[in-house]
This record gives sequence, structure tokens and C-alpha cells, in this order.
Amino acid sequence: PPRVRFCPSPTGNPHVGLVRTALFNWAFARHHQGTLVFRIEDTDAARDSEESYEQLLDSMRWLGLDWDEGPEVGGPHAPYRQSQRTDLYKDVAAKLLDGGYAYPCYCTTEELDTRRDAARAAGRPSGYDGHCRELSDERKAAYEAEGRTSIVRFRMPDEAITFTDLVRGEITVQPENVPDYGIVRANGAPLYTLVNPVDDALMEITHVLRGEDLLSSTPRQIALYRALIELGVAKEIPAFGHLPYVMGEGNKKLSKRDPQASLNLYRERGFLPEGLLNYLSLLGWSIAEDRDIFTRDELVAAFDIADVNANPARFDLKKCEHINAEHLRAMDVKAFTEACGPWLKAPFAPWAPEAFDAEQFAEIAPHAQTRVTVLSDITANVDFLFLDEPVEDEASWNKAMKEGSDALLVTARAELLAAEWNAEALKAAVLAAGEQHGLKLGKAQAPVRVAVTGRTVGLPLFESLEILGREKTIARIDAALA
Ligand code: GLU
Repeated sequence: PPRVRFCPSPTGNPHVGLVRTALFNWAFARHHQGTLVFRIEDTDAARDSEESYEQLLDSMRWLGLDWDEGPEVGGPHAPYRQSQRTDLYKDVAAKLLDGGYAYPCYCTTEELDTRRDAARAAGRPSGYDGHCRELSDERKAAYEAEGRTSIVRFRMPDEAITFTDLVRGEITVQPENVPDYGIVRANGAPLYTLVNPVDDALMEITHVLRGEDLLSSTPRQIALYRALIELGVAKEIPAFGHLPYVMGEGNKKLSKRDPQASLNLYRERGFLPEGLLNYLSLLGWSIAEDRDIFTRDELVAAFDIADVNANPARFDLKKCEHINAEHLRAMDVKAFTEACGPWLKAPFAPWAPEAFDAEQFAEIAPHAQTRVTVLSDITANVDFLFLDEPVEDEASWNKAMKEGSDALLVTARAELLAAEWNAEALKAAVLAAGEQHGLKLGKAQAPVRVAVTGRTVGLPLFESLEILGREKTIARIDAALA
């Protein structure tokens, strides 16, 4: 069974591109009954943070993307945080040096820059030129006597590297495009270029599914893998599949700094994990030509990396919202009612906590369920029930209250007061009031809605009035007339 990994760096907030990568790895692992390894690539002490690490774990849990090995669950390849694995990398680096797969490089930054500029000017490849590849022991000793320090540089083979990407097919890269590269800093710290493939090797990863931005590092990693296999550190080269870029506004790559990309935003707005994952799975994949909405289990059953499209995917917020709304509709009412919980309290709810009435909310919830797009929409849809006075929305007020509205409200008040208090009778009452003023139902109900809820749009009016009750409804019409 396959072993895949999700290996984010704990910097900043999780973003939707990262979630898409996690999701595809998770779906692949679950589809094939394989193993998902969750590894934390915290090798950049300056940018990594514990807060971001906690957020990653919390986000994965919220999304319901469970992992089989990694933080908190452990596993045979622990630890799963790179910051705790330095000795392992140093050991591998030493083996690579001993075996001649890597060499010390004494070039200074200035020397590298000068030679690179010269190569560019001459139209030659501008990567590392192999200067330190074959240094004699005397030369090395002389450099060291000069006080130079050295990095460890991996020796790339002098032939083309070909591999079959699971998404993009066969890819061949010529040696002049992949120069020898650093794997250990002068201070002895292993570099990311080393630790990422070494961990994949040690953790026996069979499939590397990751973003297209990492495609260019694959030939280097394959060459390193070959060395690791010869050294007995790795067993086999994993298969690679590079997921397409996600494009945002203006057809630019969605960057993790893009506010629209932040996962927290979706959580705060009240997307369901199920809805969000459904949408994100469509960024490069599809379940069937004419089908957008499916469950997590259906995704797992159908997911095939061979179906992933190499073309850039476009992030479409409207579609994401639409899909989420469909998942909200599909919930059982009780589950929906419970899921609204956080948005019925501080800091989201504008009413006093004791004003909230769970029974009233349970009555209105089914009407809201078919109308909200995200759970946070619930607050403004039900605030008229729990606020002493309806929200003051001047724009709504001006829109609904025209000349003659007062007269209509007076009639409507009388009709409502006389009506039996159920939605059907209340509708008949407002209809009758409208008739007396030559107004159709739509026109007649607008001032009533604004007087009672403060808004021009909202949940079905007569059900809303029924649930709010006679006393409050009449009091609000009185207040509007005062
Ligand atoms: N830690 C890398 C990142 O955050 C992932 C690298 C990989 O998947 O190989 O982009």
C-alpha cells in the first residue's frame, strides 16, 4: 500500500492551496488504503512558529483530514518534526561526502556572484559551475589555511534526468539546467534541499503529491535519491505528481498572502469542512463531467491521481459558496441547528446572551437552512428575534418606507392584531391590508418586514412573524409609526 506525506512548513496561516495538497494526499491514501504521514518541515527557525504549528494541527482536525503517522499519533519513523531530526541528516550528509556523492565547496558568495554574472553575460548557463568538484587535498588544505569555510554541495550526474510525473507525464531535464547544489550550510546546518528528500526516503514515501511550484526541485531530488539508494539509505525512488497551480483574482497565482487564500477566513465565515473540501477537490480534479456536489466518502471512492489535470485551476469564490450552501441544505436540521452555535454567541451575535431563546431558534432554523450560504449568515437572519429593537438599517428603511407606508402599516397593524397567529393567517392579513391600499403582497409586506426586522430581505416573513409573536410584532409596528 502507498505511503504519502503532507509536509507543510509552519509559517503563517494555513491557506487553501496547502489544504488542497493535504486533501489530495489524504484522498489518495484513503482510496488506496495507504498511509498518510504528516511531517512538519520546521527547518527555518527564523520563519517557523509554534503558533503556526498548532494552527496546522488544528486545521487538519477541523477539516477531518486524519493522519496515520505524525505529530501526536507518533509512528515508526518518529520524530515527525524536522527540527528534531538534525542528527539523522548530518549522518546522511557525512555518508554522501564519504561516498563522493557530495563535496565541500569553498566558493564565497562574491566569487559565485561574479562568475554567475560573467556566465550570464556570455550567454552560458548561470548555475553553479562545478568549480570545487575536483579539488585536490592540497587545494582544500590551502583554502582552509586561508580561513575559508565550506558548504557541502551535491554532485549532479552529467546526464539528463527523466521521470514520469503522475500528472504531467514524462519530463526530461538536461544536466546544464540542474547544477550541483548545496545540502549543508557552512555552519553544519543541513539545508532543506537535503532534509526533505532524506525524510521521504527514511519514511519510505512511495508517492510525492505536491504543488507545481516544487516541480523544478524534482530532478535534484531524484539524483539525490539515486545516491541514497546506492548508500542503502533509500529503497526506491517515489513516484512524483505535481498538482496544478491555483489562480486567484485577475488570473494571478493565488498567493498565500492573498486574504482570499486564508483558511481561517473560511472557518470564520462558517464554511463546512465538507463543503470546503468538496470545492477544493475540484481545483484540478473532477468526479464526473456534470457533477459538482459530493461527499467526502464519494471523493475517497472516486479519487484517482491520474485524473488530475495539469492545467492551472481557477479559484472561484462564488462556486465555493454555492457548493457550501448545497452541503448546508443536505444536513439534517438538528445538525444544522447545532452547527450554527458559534454564530449565535459573542463575538458574532449582537444580542445579549440571555436574550437568546433556543426554542425560537429551533423553530426558525429550518427556514434559515435553505437560505444561508455560510453559517455566519445566520446571525443577521435571526437577530430580529433576540434584539430588543430591530437593527437600524437606514438604507433598508429608506427603501421600504415610501409615501403611504404609514397608512399601510396602520391597516396592517389592525389586520394582524385581529388575525389568528399563524403564518398562513398572517399572510392573509397583510394581503388584505395591501388590497385596501391598492398594493400587491410584495409591496405591502416590505414596510412590515422593515418595521419588524429592520431589513428589506430576510427569512420568509410570515413564518418570522409567527415565531416572533404577536406582542413584539405589534410593538415594532407601533415603534415604526411613532
Ligand atoms: N514544506 C514544503 C512546503 O511547504 C513542501 C515540500 C514538498 O512537498 O516536497 O512547500
